[in-house]
Amino acid sequence: MKIDAKPRILVVEDEPTLVDTLEYNLTRQDYTVSTATDGFTALEKARTERPDLIVLDVMLPGLDGFEICRILRQEMSTPILMLTARDDEIDKVVGLEVGADDYLTKPFSMRELMARVKAHLRRVRMIREEMEGEETTADDRPANAAGLTFGSLHIDPDRHEVVNGAEILHLKPKEFELLHFLARNRGMALSRDLILERVWDWDFDGGSRTVDVHVRWLREKIEEDPAHPRRIVTVRGVGYRFEG
Ligand code: CA
Repeated sequence: MKIDAKPRILVVEDEPTLVDTLEYNLTRQDYTVSTATDGFTALEKARTERPDLIVLDVMLPGLDGFEICRILRQEMSTPILMLTARDDEIDKVVGLEVGADDYLTKPFSMRELMARVKAHLRRVRMIREEMEGEETTADDRPANAAGLTFGSLHIDPDRHEVVNGAEILHLKPKEFELLHFLARNRGMALSRDLILERVWDWDFDGGSRTVDVHVRWLREKIEEDPAHPRRIVTVRGVGYRFEG
C-alpha cells in the first residue's frame, strides 16, 4: 500500500464500448486501470490485485454486481462505486443491502464519474495516511499485496509458501496451486471440472478424482479437524468451496 503509487482501479463492466471509454478516461487521469467483463474474473482480480477502488456494473454475466459487492464487502474495505441501469437496482443499492459506497445511474457523464472516483480515492488516501503513523502489524509480517490471509492461514504466492499460525506448511506444487485458486475464489462453489481446467490445464487423464485426492491432502494440512473441514467445504453435486 504505497501512498505515492498510482491509484489502481478495477473496472467491472461487460459492455465493450463502455469499458474502453472508462479505461481511456481513467488512464488519462493517471490511474492504473484493470478490467473484468464477468463476475468470476472480477472477484479474482479484486482479490489478487487489491485495487484502491472498484467501479462495478450491476448487470454482468454469471455473478451479478450485487453478489460481487456483497462478497467483497466481507473481505475488504475498498470503495465500490456501482453502475446501475434500472430503478429497482437503485433501490437496492441505496438501501445499502449490498454495501456499496456510491452509485451512478446509466447514462452518466464521464465528468461526474471522475469526480466521484477522485473523492473516494482522496478519502482512502487520508485514511491510509492516518494509519501510517500507527503502523506496526501484530505479527510483524510484512504487508504483502498479493498475499491472502484467512485467520491463522496465510498464503504467499510470491514465496510459494503457506503459513498456518507459526508453522510453515509443506505443500506440493499442485496442492499450493489448488489452495491458491480456491482461496482467490473464496465463497464460490467451484466445480471439479472448473478446478481441473484452471489448476491442471486438463493436461492429464486422472479425472475429477485427482481433485478429490488433492483436496483431501490439503485438508490434512490446513484443517484443524480434517474429518470435519471448515475451510474447504464440499458442495454436494458440484465440487468445493473455500470458506476462509
Ligand atoms: Ca452490464
